[in-house]
Amino acid sequence: MRKSIATVSVSGTLTEKLEAIAAAGFDGVEVFENDLVACPLPPEEIRLRADDLGLGIDMYQPLRDFEAVPDDVLKGNLRRAEYTFELMNRLGADTLLVCSNVSPDALPDDELAAAQLRLLAERAAGHGIRVAYEALAWGRHVSEYLHAWRIVRTADHPALGVCLDSFHILSRGSDPIGIEAIPGEKVFFLQLADAPRLAMDVLQWSRHYRCFPGQGGFDVTGLVRHVLATGYAGPLSLEVFNDVFRQSDARRTALDAMRSLIALEEALTPDGVPPVVPSGFAFAELATEGSAELSGILSALGFARTGTHRTKPVELWEQGGARVLLNAAPAESADEEPALVAIGLETPDPAASVKRAGKLLAPVLPRERAPRDAPLDAIAAPDGTALFFCRTGHADHPDWTADFPRAEPVPEGDVTGIDHVALTQPWQHFDEASLFYRGVLGLRPQESLEVADPYGLLRSRAMAGGGTRLVVNIARTVARQASRQHVAFAVRDLRALARRLRADHPGLLLPIPANYYDNLEARYGADPEIRELGLLYDRDEEGEFLHLYTVTAGRVFFELVQRIGGYDGYGAANAAVRLAVQHAERS
Ligand code: MG
Ligand code: MG
Repeated sequence: MRKSIATVSVSGTLTEKLEAIAAAGFDGVEVFENDLVACPLPPEEIRLRADDLGLGIDMYQPLRDFEAVPDDVLKGNLRRAEYTFELMNRLGADTLLVCSNVSPDALPDDELAAAQLRLLAERAAGHGIRVAYEALAWGRHVSEYLHAWRIVRTADHPALGVCLDSFHILSRGSDPIGIEAIPGEKVFFLQLADAPRLAMDVLQWSRHYRCFPGQGGFDVTGLVRHVLATGYAGPLSLEVFNDVFRQSDARRTALDAMRSLIALEEALTPDGVPPVVPSGFAFAELATEGSAELSGILSALGFARTGTHRTKPVELWEQGGARVLLNAAPAESADEEPALVAIGLETPDPAASVKRAGKLLAPVLPRERAPRDAPLDAIAAPDGTALFFCRTGHADHPDWTADFPRAEPVPEGDVTGIDHVALTQPWQHFDEASLFYRGVLGLRPQESLEVADPYGLLRSRAMAGGGTRLVVNIARTVARQASRQHVAFAVRDLRALARRLRADHPGLLLPIPANYYDNLEARYGADPEIRELGLLYDRDEEGEFLHLYTVTAGRVFFELVQRIGGYDGYGAANAAVRLAVQHAERS
């Protein structure tokens, strides 16, 4: 399917936008009026630039407040329309978006709207142009797509059709099944945007919070299915107004946009290859810059250094099924160490995982390895963390652990494996990250949460699937502590481990204020051992959660968690307490 994007969706001047959009592989653009008006180049030159970049100009938009107006207003509107047609001929655009009237001049008269749109279509046809009429969710009298279609049907002109916009349809809660009643040749254009579910004025919601399909809460794929059922064969075009994307790097946003369409197209194809969902963590790799802080914490937790890499300054630390690599080589990607720099993911088919990642435009990392190292494929996550695809301990695939000749047996202690890993994203990459992990790894994103930090807000979204749990955080605070990452270990008996750690390693665990326990007991009743051991507690309908945190080294701390029953969360209720204590820890 042809892929397009509205110029308003990315940052920059019009020429910067076109370059970024072409670099991401789009076939066409919708040129937004404001971008053109502010551009120093004449329309003919813009057309040439787009042409050189291999981009068609699929639509010019918008002509506003045109239909259902008194005669004197119509005269001025037709003058604007004539100017627009001439401009479009110079630009080489043949489809004009007309959005439903929002002005107080508009009359609640569908016959009048149809007659005036028919007149507009006649004039447009004289210039070789067709008109796509779109119901804005906040249109004064026309705000539903089927209402716009009834007017277009009444007008009955071959140069007049509808433009369907997933945001306007889904934000109003309209049932998209009605789309199938529109003949495909009358659907002139399809604009796609997703959005988080927010209870707010629909105009503000649309102008500031749209996002790419797969990043929000709408069933955009389902809507596209209905549109394709009509026989529509035009472009899938993204039209996203988003305050964050407006400020982000245009090339990166355009790639993110293209990734969303590739994932969407794949979801539409019944025989599409499903993502290879990782079954869990092979390892977490921490850059230590030679500091012994992390090895001290790990050995206190019961880990042992079981091997050292044959050729690199990397140690393998293990306990049960949990593996941590401590890399003493300076890491380019980390500006403060210790830091989490890589994650190994267990996948049943590493080659298929990396192939899919490449298809979804994830940057595939070069294999930097010594001659005898296991060839591991890796990609870069949006925050720069390397993700390695591993198949540990299977004869049919190179085993990375063979690079770490075992000097010690793996201790069997309280820690059984890695439960989850929490990464911190730059603030402008939050939506990109959820689409990335969903598309590339097939993880299911949960609702995003906001957690109070003493000096800002932490936005957090968990993603899970197939035994892999990731938490993606962004901090809206200038505090440095906000960039922390953590690895959470699954523990068999956290009470026993906490008792041992409190006795043998005072100062290792993050101290929790007594007020927390007073509050906890008021909510759930007293469990003196939880207070005595300094544990944090949460519960949901399915079970209970005990957890605690170590002190921080560089950017990294460890969490110890015990899931009881079917508890499926991350102790989010306790995150604010943890953040407050961590601020105090360093100051
Ligand atoms: Mg639109
Ligand atoms: Mg956690």
